Amino acid sequence: MSSSVALRLPSIDGLLRHPACAPLAERYGRDSLLTGLRQLLDELRPGVLSGQLAAVEIGAEVLAGRVGERLAQQQRSQVRRVFNLTGTVLHTNLGRALLPEEAIEAVQMAARYPLNLEFDLASGKRGDRDDLIEGLIRELTGAEAVTVVNNNAAAVLLTLNSLGARKEGIISRGELIEIGGAFRIPDIMARAGVRLHEVGTTNRTHARDYQAAIGPRSGLIMRVHASNYSIEGFTARVPTAELAELAHAHGLPLLEDLGSGSLLDLTRWGLPAEPTVRQALLDGADIVTFSGDKLLGGPQAGLIVGRRELIAKIKKNPLKRALRVDKLTLAALEAVLGLYRDPDRLAARLPSLRLLTRPQADIHAQAVRLQPLLADVLGEVWQVSAVEALGMIGSGSQPVARLPSAALCCRPRVSKRWRGRYLLNLEAALRGLPIPVLGRIGDDALWLDLRQLDDEPAWLAQLAQLQVDR
Ligand SMILES: *Cc1c(COP(=O)(O)O)cnc(C)c1O
Repeated sequence: MSSSVALRLPSIDGLLRHPACAPLAERYGRDSLLTGLRQLLDELRPGVLSGQLAAVEIGAEVLAGRVGERLAQQQRSQVRRVFNLTGTVLHTNLGRALLPEEAIEAVQMAARYPLNLEFDLASGKRGDRDDLIEGLIRELTGAEAVTVVNNNAAAVLLTLNSLGARKEGIISRGELIEIGGAFRIPDIMARAGVRLHEVGTTNRTHARDYQAAIGPRSGLIMRVHASNYSIEGFTARVPTAELAELAHAHGLPLLEDLGSGSLLDLTRWGLPAEPTVRQALLDGADIVTFSGDKLLGGPQAGLIVGRRELIAKIKKNPLKRALRVDKLTLAALEAVLGLYRDPDRLAARLPSLRLLTRPQADIHAQAVRLQPLLADVLGEVWQVSAVEALGMIGSGSQPVARLPSAALCCRPRVSKRWRGRYLLNLEAALRGLPIPVLGRIGDDALWLDLRQLDDEPAWLAQLAQLQVDR
């Protein structure tokens, strides 16, 4: 529009005194309001000067409304709860394991009050934070000693550096893996100061390959759980017990990075077998490392367990101080480990195990129940069906194993040419909900795997707000 009368922006002072702004100052503070108003006026000024804005667009009420929206947006936490309907239970990008109530209470206690983090209440002397969980971990794994760090990547780095710096680390070519982009075994070894001595081939490594590599510069033998890939067909791998015997015959320690590492045999719950920490130690591994927030179902942490003198050496490494675990994590970890003392009730009490073992029939019944509600909201264009689906454990556990599950499968009833766009729009709309809903696109459909839809009321409550662009 063109205007003959030059418009002027309201003054900051005038706006601050305006009744529409008073509640904003009260709610967000005068400084935030001032900053917000200045930014908004700066953005509007060129439009006003060129005559492109109408008087109503720069009225005090309108400006207050816009600043209010922005302040609300800024105040909203960046850390957001989401619905993980991807089908991957231990999803690294979505925070992996969910903590049981016992652990949440322990975290609250540790956050709210001083605690005996490094204080021995029995003797009144300085203590060691590892002591708080050492007894439990020894009981659950059979290990002689234990130390805990920030995550399993830290556990591997610290162990390698403590036991193998300036020496050679012997490892099979088939185990030189990359996990989640930034964690690559050869790089971690290099950063730990260990010289990589790779043996065997990608698919087959024999005891004689390790044997031939052992020499005066050898510092350790390492074994890494292949985690997120699997080698099938013509393969050979030396059993841990045999490898341990070989290592010990030459006075070398055997490290085993189990990755996910399970404390109990998961097959008792019908899940695919994962090596247990106890078995790796029984087989002769001197140090075993594993994550706290993968199959264990606890907080992010890296557990290092094994022979007493090696753990002592690891604890003396100055890097330990840089990688140490914090009090909230320790509190949660102790509570989670405590649940493992009663395996019979573990699947009912530990959320990750409860979700992993949720029966397909149960998930399918939920899908059947929710199907008409979602179909109704999405309208004619979408064909919504309750179908069987296959999920994953995630976090490098059993990458090829699938969890029988059920999903709401949404297919756009449009020509092939438009399907991709419709699917992306639906995905974005679900992501835009107050509690973002994350599914997965595949096979010309958007899949919402319901294995992890615990909080059905919250999911339903926001469904009416779903607005999909065409
Ligand atoms: C996941 C994984 C790691 C890294 O563990 P974080 O706890 O994510 O740091 C290291 N090694 C293996 C074999 C893994 O599977």
